[in-house]
Amino acid sequence: MLYGAIEAGGTKFVCAVGNEKGELLEKAIIDTTTPEKTLEQIKTFYLGKDIVACGVGSFGPIDVNKESPTYGYIMNTPKIKWQKFNLLGELKKLLGVPLAFDSDVNVAAVGEKLLGAGRDVNSCLYMTIGTGIGAGLYVEGSTLSGLSHPEMGHILLKRHPEDSDFTGFCPFHGADCFEGLAAGPAIEKRWDKKGNELGVDHEAWRLEAYYIAQALMNYILIVSPEKIVLGGGVMKQKQLFPLIFDELIEKLNGYLDFPQLTRENISRYIVSPELGDEAGVKGALMTAVKML
Ligand code: ADP
Ligand code: ZN
Repeated sequence: MLYGAIEAGGTKFVCAVGNEKGELLEKAIIDTTTPEKTLEQIKTFYLGKDIVACGVGSFGPIDVNKESPTYGYIMNTPKIKWQKFNLLGELKKLLGVPLAFDSDVNVAAVGEKLLGAGRDVNSCLYMTIGTGIGAGLYVEGSTLSGLSHPEMGHILLKRHPEDSDFTGFCPFHGADCFEGLAAGPAIEKRWDKKGNELGVDHEAWRLEAYYIAQALMNYILIVSPEKIVLGGGVMKQKQLFPLIFDELIEKLNGYLDFPQLTRENISRYIVSPELGDEAGVKGALMTAVKML
C-alpha cells in the first residue's frame, strides 16, 4: 500500500509518497506561497497516486485538538495568508483519504523514533533550531499534545550576564524566550552576520550552547526523554555539540545520576538527526502508516 506524507513548512512543503517501511518512493518540493497556489500544486502532485492515507506535519501554531471547532487550522502565524487557514480540511477535500495531523516537530520526533536515532529507545525528543525553535516528543507510542502541541521554543531562560543588552528576536517575548535568544535570526541580529558566516571559534557558539543547554536541562527534567535529537540549520554547526554537553553536565551538577548523562556517553544521548533533513517527511509517512 502507498501512503502520502506532507511536511508543511513556512518556506516549502515537502510532499512524498512512500510505503509502510518508511521508504520514500517519490518526493516533490513546493514553495509556500498562498494557500490556493500551494494546494493546487499539492493536488497536481498527488493526482493518480493511489495513496490510502496521508500524514501531515505542519508549521504552526496549529490546532491539534480534535474537539475544537478549529481543529486542523493554522492559527496565529506571522504568515498572514495562512492565518486561520483550514489546512487539514482543505487537504481532506483535495486528497479524499484519511489524514493524520500534527506539528512539524512532533512528526519529526516520530520519524527519528521509528526509523532513526530513537529506534532502540521508547521515547524521543526532536528539537529544531532554525528560523524558529520548536520541539516535539514521541512517547509510549504517540506524540504529546493536549491543550495544544508543545511549544518548547518559547520557554523562559536565564540570560547570560554578557548578553544582557540583547533585545531578542521573538515577536511575542523579545529576549525573554529561548527562540528570541537562540534561533537563527537571533544569532544574525546579535552578531550582524548569519550563523553560517561566523567562524567555528566565534564566541556566538559558547553563548548559543549556554542557552541550548538550559533548555535541554528543562526538557530532561520535565519529560525525561530517552533520546534527544537536535536538528535545524543552526545545529549544522557541529562544534556546538561538545559545548552543549559540557554546559549541560555542569548545570545538572550530578542531580540526575544516569549513565547517559556522563561526559563519556552523552554524545550518544544527544545526537544529530539520523534521517537528516528527512525526519519530518518520513515521520509524516509513519504517522499515516500508524493511523490505519
Ligand atoms: P527552517 O527553520 O526555516 O526550516 P533552517 O533549519 O535551515 O530552516 O533554519 C534557517 C536558519 O538557520 C537561518 O536563520 C539560518 O541563518 C540558520 N542556518 C542555516 N544553516 C546554518 C549553518 N550552517 N550554520 C548556522 N546557522 C545556519
Ligand atoms: Zn517567544
